[in-house]
Amino acid sequence: MNSSGKKARALGLCSGGLDSMLAGLILRDQGIEVEFVTFETPFFNAEKARKVSQMTGIPLSVKPIYAVYITMLKSPPAGYGKHMNPCMDCHSLMFKLAGEMMQAQGFDFLFSGEVVGQRPMSQTKSSLRYVEKHSGFEGYILRPLSAKNLPQTIPEKEGKVNRDLLLDIEGRSRKRQIKLAKKFGITDYPAPAGGCLLTDKGYSDRLKDLFDHQQGCTEAELHLLKYGRHFRLNPQAKLIVGRTQKDNENILKYHNPKKDTVIRLKKYAGPIALVPHGAQKDSIFLAASICAGYSQAPNFAAVDVQVTSPNGEEVLKVIGIPPEDVRKLLIT
Ligand code: SF4
Repeated sequence: MNSSGKKARALGLCSGGLDSMLAGLILRDQGIEVEFVTFETPFFNAEKARKVSQMTGIPLSVKPIYAVYITMLKSPPAGYGKHMNPCMDCHSLMFKLAGEMMQAQGFDFLFSGEVVGQRPMSQTKSSLRYVEKHSGFEGYILRPLSAKNLPQTIPEKEGKVNRDLLLDIEGRSRKRQIKLAKKFGITDYPAPAGGCLLTDKGYSDRLKDLFDHQQGCTEAELHLLKYGRHFRLNPQAKLIVGRTQKDNENILKYHNPKKDTVIRLKKYAGPIALVPHGAQKDSIFLAASICAGYSQAPNFAAVDVQVTSPNGEEVLKVIGIPPEDVRKLLIT
């Protein structure tokens, strides 16, 4: 309760994992009104958080944050993790945005399911401090699962939260969380969430290539990095070649018909290939030959390839280049 006798209100970051679920339930158990927020970018989505909200009945807000996220991602002050994951600044940004919601919507404090020492880089005490400081909401971020091993927060000092009912979990073992889940009657909880797409080597390599070769990028271009084989043809041109039907569908879904060039074989089954932003004639010819190399056209046969660009359609006759001969152009 607030000193005014009103129920305290807390807004939690929900990753969709068991820990954020438990953090919310622990606070709700002591009479605090809790809500969740989760953020969406091409690198992570709200799917698991929505399930957690359904399972617990804790209301969830979903906020797309592409524009502000990409600015941070291009030069995160604390740098990247093993791949393109800027975990410390990602968390700081999420708490900053949640903090702004807290102020705008009259919440008393923020919380998350972070556990001290659970992740080697992003959940050490000093990382948690970094995040707090850089979020701009120092003192207002409560981690109910590890609170007793962390300095008292403002809501605890103000009596809005009973520190005695918070926990002192530390380290990688999940035993106490699993016991706690049982206590709350949760049996079907999500497996520990791995990192987002930015922790994936292949995706990170493709993203780095994109950042190295073009100034800005659209959200759709970041989705395109998830599908197909990616080739760097030259500093100005890249090629994406679908590997599966799903890749082909998504390449078409996310491509930009006003800028990109689509390549497909006319008479043989084969992949959809895409040259984002188009390219010079010789690069399109190379792209069409690579595309034909991945098709079912007979080796060394001249085949017709349809090329669709914002300037219209044309048919090129090419001989497929065997995949092993273009491996050196692959981005990953
Ligand atoms: S794994 Fe991805 S979503 Fe999670 S903190 Fe790191 S960058 Fe952010």
